Amino acid sequence: MSSPTLWVKSAATLTPDGFVEGATVQVAAGQVVRVWASGEAPTPKPADEILDLGPQLLLPGFVNSHTHAAMNLLRGFSDDLPLDPWLHQHVYPAEARLKPGDILWGTRAALLEMIASGITTFVDMYFALDEVAQAVRESGTRAVLGRGLITVSGRGEEALAEASDFHRRTQGSADGRITTWLAPHAPYTTTPDYLQAVGEAARALGTGVHIHLSETRREVEDCLAAYGVTPFGLMRKVGLDRQPLLAAHAVHLTADDLESFSDWRPGIAHNPISNLKMGCGMAPVARLLELAMPLGLGTDGVASANSLDFFLTMKASIWGARGATGDPCWPNAAQILHAASAGGARAVELHKKTGAIAPGLAADLIGVSLQGVGLEPVHDRISTLVYSATAAAVKTVLVDGKLLYQDGAFLTLDQEAILAHAAEIGRRLVAKN
Ligand SMILES: [Zn+2]
Repeated sequence: MSSPTLWVKSAATLTPDGFVEGATVQVAAGQVVRVWASGEAPTPKPADEILDLGPQLLLPGFVNSHTHAAMNLLRGFSDDLPLDPWLHQHVYPAEARLKPGDILWGTRAALLEMIASGITTFVDMYFALDEVAQAVRESGTRAVLGRGLITVSGRGEEALAEASDFHRRTQGSADGRITTWLAPHAPYTTTPDYLQAVGEAARALGTGVHIHLSETRREVEDCLAAYGVTPFGLMRKVGLDRQPLLAAHAVHLTADDLESFSDWRPGIAHNPISNLKMGCGMAPVARLLELAMPLGLGTDGVASANSLDFFLTMKASIWGARGATGDPCWPNAAQILHAASAGGARAVELHKKTGAIAPGLAADLIGVSLQGVGLEPVHDRISTLVYSATAAAVKTVLVDGKLLYQDGAFLTLDQEAILAHAAEIGRRLVAKN
């Protein structure tokens, strides 16, 4: 028996070929069947569902290509510090106070914020992944989950075994919405031998690897001093160029790194707000786009970025890049809007599943209103979306054709309960004793 068809009408729908005016998107079994131009869609059958978004624009849902969702619990608790003491003296001690169940609530809180911002897929690196997976399952969103792996704790082998076990149990779960990768934290919290073992495990499991790479100048200098190669060079040295790789940050790239991308195309998660706020620098975004690298945008965790508003992330990626290069033209708004959806999907090899509104892809769709104060008049939709809009413009969110959010209401998550629990846990985490 075929499932009922959903017809999503909007003022205009953004497809890989541009906006289709007055389009109707035909959705069946959670997938886009076809995008019909104005007046061309067939008449719906009585059992069909119609979602008429009126003046809203329909866009592909955003892909947050790097975050630590549960860090939502640590918003604003230790700002304005260098990365090293911030991580070791503040974040890690607070995380050590997390109790079972806290990560579930923290991830739920992040999901409220991500859904309201139009993020339909997120790429997470954290621990207690069964709790993260539960939040994904109940929220209806899509995710790529990776357990953070470090060797400095002395539990590296055990953590890798747990991550492999999580992959076997969870890959493809939540009706295919959960993908699991392995996620060694960074070259400076692991060893080359361990990274090599992670790569071997990933290839044996048939999955990818997500890692923080070249975030600070010091990280690159230390890696060169210790191993004679940059962090990206180290990836190739230990064989991590032989399975899908997602490199979060890629701020400090050498000429050799850029040259290596001629025959190696790792995904890159660009986190402009976190990088700028932590004073780490700015990834060479325009250059990476010129090289046609699979480039996605990420928020990083709220402990460093303070917000999961993906519209802020888009703005920061342009402002930061132009501030760093002095070039007022690149990257442009259309490139960054593309990176926010299709680019992120490509960076984690989900481009055959999501990231665009096209036949055969999941109906991961967002309705955005460009009406109201601060948005009108709209001379150029892409310009207004990227340079003027905030998350408040997002009115409708669907994943796999299922409504998750409509006009400020969460249809799968209990906003009141989640915010109350998150506030309570947050207070405990930063308590002095
Ligand atoms: Zn991160």
